[in-house]
Formats: sequence, structure tokens, C-alpha cells
Amino acid sequence: MLYLITAALGLGLAVAITMILANRRATRELTRALTSRAPALPPQAGGGSDWAALRESAGELLAQLATLERLRSGQLAHLEATLGSLQEAVLIVDAENRILLANRALETIFPSAHDVLNQRLERVLHSVAFLDLVADVRAGRPNAQREIEFVDGERSIWLQVTAALVTPLDASPGPWALFVLHDVTRQKDLESVRTEFVANVSHELRTPLSVIKGCVETLVDDHASMPLEDRIRFLQTIQRHADRLASLLEDLLTLSRLESATPGLHREPTRLGDLIGGLVDDVRARPAAAGHLLTTAIDPGVDTILVDPLKISQVLANLIDNAIKYTPRGSRIEVEARRSAGAVDVCVRDNGPGIPEKDLPHIFERFYRVDKGRSRETGGTGLGLSIAKHIVQLHWGRIWVHSTPGKGASFQFTLPLAPV
Ligand code: ADP
Repeated sequence: MLYLITAALGLGLAVAITMILANRRATRELTRALTSRAPALPPQAGGGSDWAALRESAGELLAQLATLERLRSGQLAHLEATLGSLQEAVLIVDAENRILLANRALETIFPSAHDVLNQRLERVLHSVAFLDLVADVRAGRPNAQREIEFVDGERSIWLQVTAALVTPLDASPGPWALFVLHDVTRQKDLESVRTEFVANVSHELRTPLSVIKGCVETLVDDHASMPLEDRIRFLQTIQRHADRLASLLEDLLTLSRLESATPGLHREPTRLGDLIGGLVDDVRARPAAAGHLLTTAIDPGVDTILVDPLKISQVLANLIDNAIKYTPRGSRIEVEARRSAGAVDVCVRDNGPGIPEKDLPHIFERFYRVDKGRSRETGGTGLGLSIAKHIVQLHWGRIWVHSTPGKGASFQFTLPLAPV
């Protein structure tokens, strides 16, 4: 009897252990299948009808999930294709700021931003101000549009960023956030050039104006008791600074006309050799040029060319005037014109002190002077070379300078024979 009981208990235990092991295996397989989102769940070994029902429900859930994911990636791909041709970069991130969508413009704006999908937003767009904006959007604060500076490698990029919360396209936790990035770097650069220009103009005008004002005040107060020679000295100072104001205004007007949509270029067939010869003769006759040796070297191949003669004369006059102003008496100045392939090359060369290497890249900028004092003393406005550059460029040409300090400067420009 005891033997029978023991045998029955043993059998019962063996069956129970087999069932427990089968359930455990079924649980493991189900977990593995769910984790890997395998839509076809493996047939479970054991587990009975409850297990079959559980497997069926899990299978349905996984199938629904797969459909939703297909739908979402389909919608995102469609959205991405729609946004592909936009100039603005568009980004959509999920609730954890992982990038779900980025259109092509993002890589155009940030060349280093490739394969950004699934990356965290802050790893792609590094900027504290941008993170503040993201936090504000997430907190539902209004006015989620800002101009933000980003750094991509060596470059600084200004973007106008607009942000908004959006409802997820699927059942994932929300909200998602949408960012539109508009590149305003060029506008920012232009703005700072304009601000700098206005500051420079004000500075240039202030000096002669305050001198004139001081002289006039002194004359008004003391003219009755002032010796005649002092009065003359004050009046001469006023005249000098009024002339300076006039030439500044003249150059500023010329520049703004050249930069406008109608620069007033009047091209006509011009014998360049004659134009240079006539100009050099005029300069030689001026007392300021008396101590300099001016020569010309015109290649006979330089014939008639289609240019605005007055404007090209202005370029040459400026280069020759500079060569006289910035070289000591006795210096040599040579004006040369040569025919080259499809163009005429003109060069104004002197053997004066030249221009330091560090100043050469800036020499054509507005108001840039190597020696401010010397430029003002000689009536310079700091705008001559900038005007010359504009005129040459309006003729589709190029102007540049070579200089060896101590040995002289050589300004050259080309004028294409046929407009490019
Ligand atoms: P400015 O009215 O001062 O002459 P420019 O634009 O014509 O203005 O010239 C800019 C600066 O370039 C000058 O202030 C001067 O320092 C320098 N420069 C121009 N030509 C020469 C030259 N031939 N030799 C040395 N320096 C020169």
C-alpha cells in the first residue's frame, strides 16, 4: 500500500515538474518574442489553452503595433519628401527629443549633420540658447521664435528658429516638437556691415564738423579783439575742414550710386592709351606731382575698349594720386597697360615705402587706411580704393595689389574686352 502511495506521489511530482518546466519555457519564449517584436509567436510547448489565448492576444497586439509603426514611418517619410525642397530646415523630435524627421535643408545649413535620425537633438544642434528655447516650448511658454547663433566647425551660423508642440502621429508618448530653422546669417552679416559703416561715417564726419564748430565759436566770441592773422588762420582751418567734409560726402554719394541698382555706367568705345596719356599729362602739370617722376608704358596692342571713360579715369586718377601721396618726393611712378588674353591689364607701380603684408587683405575696404594721420593730412577719405574696386567690378574686371615693404606698391586691374 505504502508502495502504491509513494509511486502515485512520485508520478504526481514528475507531472507537476514537467508542467512547471513547460510553462517556464513558454514564458521565456513569449518574453523573447515580445521583446524582439516577432509578429509570429513560436508555438508554445505546453501551457494549455490559457497559454494559447495569451499567445493569440500578444500576437494581435504585435500585429497592431507593426501596423502603427508602418503607418508612422510612412507618414514621416511622406512628410520628409514634402519638406525636402524647402530652404528652411525642419525637424521633428519625440517626447525625449530624439530626432524622428529632418529634411535635406538641415545638412545644407549644417554640413556636419548627417545620419541624425534617432539622435538626441542637443547632440546635433549645440547651443545653450537653443536648449532654452526647447525648454520653453516644452513648458508651453509663448513666443517660441528666436534668432540663435550656432557654431558649425569654424563657421558661425545665425538661424531664426520657430518651435511648436505637435501631436504624435502614432500612439507613442507625446507631445512631439517641431522646429523650423531659417538661415539668416547673410542678413546678420549685412546688418553688421551696415552698422559698422554708419559708425565709421559718423566718426569721419564728426572730426571736421567739431573743428569747424570750434573755430566758428571762437570767431563769433572774439572776432572784435582778434588779430587779423589769427582770424585768417581760423578761416583757413574752417575752409580746409569744409573741403574735407565736401570730399567725404562726394565719395559717399559716389559709393552709394555705384552700389545702387542704377550705377550710371555709360560705356563707349574708348582709346585706353590716349585716356592714360591725357590723364598722366594732367597729373604732371599739378604742383603736388612736381617732385615725382611719372612715366607711361602702353603696349601698342591696347586699342579701343568698351568702357565708361569717366569712371575708368576715376580709378586711374585715384591710383596715381595715391602713388603720389604715399611716396616721398623723387619716387618713380609708372602707369602700364598691356593686352592679355581677352582683356587689358593696367598697372600703377611706384617705388615708395609699400604696404605692410598684414594690411594688404583690407586695403580695398571702406575707410581702411594704413596710416590714418598721413591719409587725413593729404585729404584722403579712405574710400578711394573701395570706389575703384566697385568701378572695376562693374566692368566685370578684377583689381588687386602687390607690395614689398620698402620697395613699393603695384596696383593692377584687368578690363575684359567683351563683357562676361
Ligand atoms: P585714402 O583716401 O586714405 O587715400 P584709399 O582707399 O585711396 O584711401 O587708400 C587706402 C589706404 O591705402 C591709404 O590710406 C594708404 O594707407 C594705402 N595706400 C594706397 N595706395 C598706396 C601706395 N601707393 N603706397 C602706400 N600705401 C598706399
